[in-house]
Formats: sequence, C-alpha cells, structure tokens
Amino acid sequence: MTEKRSPATIVATAGTRADSGRASVTPPIWTSDTYRWPDSDTKPPYDYSRTVNPNRDLLADALAELEGASGGAVTGSGQSAALLALLLLPAGALVVGPHDCYGGTYRLIKGLEEQGKLRALFVDQADDEAVGAALARQPALFWIETPSNPLLRIVDIEKRAREAKAAGALVIADNTLPTPCRQRPIALGCDLVMHSTTKALNGHADLFGGAILAADPALVEKIHWWANAAGLSASAQDAWQTLRGLRTLPLRVDRQEATARKLAEWLSGHERVLEIHYPGLDSFPQKALADRQQSGPGFMISFRVKGGNAATGGFLAALETVTLASSLGGFATLICKPATMTHRGMPPEAQAEAGIHGDLLRLSVGLEEPEDLIADLERGFQTSKRGA
Ligand SMILES: *Cc1c(COP(=O)(O)O)cnc(C)c1O
Repeated sequence: MTEKRSPATIVATAGTRADSGRASVTPPIWTSDTYRWPDSDTKPPYDYSRTVNPNRDLLADALAELEGASGGAVTGSGQSAALLALLLLPAGALVVGPHDCYGGTYRLIKGLEEQGKLRALFVDQADDEAVGAALARQPALFWIETPSNPLLRIVDIEKRAREAKAAGALVIADNTLPTPCRQRPIALGCDLVMHSTTKALNGHADLFGGAILAADPALVEKIHWWANAAGLSASAQDAWQTLRGLRTLPLRVDRQEATARKLAEWLSGHERVLEIHYPGLDSFPQKALADRQQSGPGFMISFRVKGGNAATGGFLAALETVTLASSLGGFATLICKPATMTHRGMPPEAQAEAGIHGDLLRLSVGLEEPEDLIADLERGFQTSKRGA
C-alpha cells in the first residue's frame, strides 16, 4: 500500500485478504503453537507462535499503518509493551519520564532503577529548564505521555522529540489516551509509540493487550527479537479480538469525543464544579498546543467537585449510569477518583504537587446518550448537595 489511507479504511480492511486457504473475509484465529516445515532446511514464514503469529501480524500491521510506523510487536498488556521498550536499552541507561506519568510506567521504571538496571529521572516536561537539565545528562530514552492522566496536561511532542534526539536519546510516546485517531507521535518526530490496547483500541473492556511500534525498520527488528526472547507477545485469541474491537475505533472516538465536548461544556458551567480540565474548552490553558498537535480533544475529562472529599463521596454513590471503576477508553462511561484509585500508589505530597486533589474526578466518556449521562451526573450533584 503506497497511498496514505484513512483510519476508517485501514481498520475496515485489515486482514480481509489474510486467509489464503479458504478466502474467509473475517480472518481466522490461528491458535496453533507450531507449524509444519516443508523440509528440515526450509524455515516457513510461520514456525512457532511465541516468535510469530498471523493474528498478531494482522493487528501489528493495522496499528503500524494507523501510527505511520514501519512495524512493531503486539504484547500481552500495555505494561509488557513498556517493558519491551526498556529492554532495548543498555544496562544503567538513563530514562527521562514525565513527573505525572501513568502509575504503572512509573512503578516499572522505578523498580528497575532500584535493582540497578536503569537510572530514572522524572521531570515536568512543560518546564524548559527541567527538560534541558535532564537532557544534559544524556538519557538513552525520553518518555512522553500526552495528554497526561488525570489532568490532561499537554507536552509539545515535536519540540521535545527534536531536543531529546539532538541529545542522543530514543524518544517514545505512550499514545494510549489520544489514540492514533487523534495524535500521531511518529509524524511529530518520535522513534517509538506504545499503547495499552486494553483501553480504546480494543474498546470493549474484555481483554488485556499492548503494542509497541517503531518508525525505523532496524528498531522493529530489535523489538521482535526482544518480544520473542522475553516471551512478551499476545495470544492469537487476544490479537484477533483486539483487531475486531479496533474496527470501530474511528467511529467510537468520534462519538465519545462529541459526547465529551457536551459534558465538558455542561460541567464547566455547573455551580458545583470548582475546576475542569478538558483540551476542547476555550478555558483550557494549553488549548492552542492541543489544537496544533491533536486532531481533537478526545474523550477524557477531569474535574473538581465543590465541597471536598465528603461531597465527592455522595456524588459518586448517587450515580446509576456512570460506573465507578478505573480503566478508560471503553464503551461504558467510567468515573474514578484518582487520589484513592488510579494514583493511590503516589505519596500524598507527590499527589498534591501534581495537582491530584481529593475532590478531583476523572471521567472516561463512553457511548451512552449524552443527555442520559448529564442526567446521571446531575443526580450526583443534587444528592451530594443534600448530603453536604
Ligand atoms: C492502562 C495504561 C497503561 C498500562 O496498560 P495495561 O494494559 O493495563 O498493562 C499504560 N499507559 C497508559 C496511559 C494507560 O492508560
């Protein structure tokens, strides 16, 4: 394929010509662990499923085309994709990450640092001075995650990728929140992109998966080598199911984002809302950067409820349509309280410094009717008001 295809076409056609045996339009699931050799000297293209599998290849090809990458590996979780990225580094390498990065990424990098395998530095990537000082220490890997979770802070990918590459670092972006339908980090200068496909890419909240994709074919080779050596690859069943979910990604993101815009507008005018973070609002401090870098503000919103901790508890208890759960990007609208749920591993001082207060709630907007979601959230506000 030479022409640049739209995401909708990529996902609708992925794998539809893959079954050379029976010409099924929906790809089969190749669950076999092993493959017959024509003779002992001729290695077939598929030989052993830890190393290579047709369902993983179909998903990796679709994800690579969506991200503008040359290829990559499909792994058993987002965390195993992150581990695969770190396995590319030499012992003792310095990794520079964002101070407000995903908790699991922080835990993994810190854990490896404590064992002496890596060195880690977490900085505010909006701060030129802090980034400059970190790059002066010649990191091997510069880790970007934007928009951040839960405050949706934006990092200027093009600028930071340029600076980090000039300092000799590989640059990776965790593109889980925006999805390739809204942000394409490789086009902005990154070497690697990783995903938790558990989230919006699968979109149906019924499996764990990850992916890591690279622009440079030599890097893709290294990724495959390590995925095989460490046994980090996804099962055929999960890869097949993720491709099935991926087929509706562009539709889901459009709809979830349209609903998120409505909810954000409504929340921003609500008397019980202290503060709201959503890149699509004119009041969002980094709106210009978000508009330049993303093709839309996405489906994540975070906001603070007036009345502190007590009001937040009453609000959450009253919800009937919106579910109190961590995770994001799926069909169902989920709400969580980062301070005690997704970010509970972060010490209170670090939470305060990052702006994660006890009254902050994070909303992952799903596929329900916007008016029904608004009615549910209003029920929460009314209940918490009576209780307060
Ligand atoms: C969920 C998530 C991960 C980890 O993915 P798992 O599939 O849960 O292992 C990494 N980064 C981000 C931004 C995530 O939301």
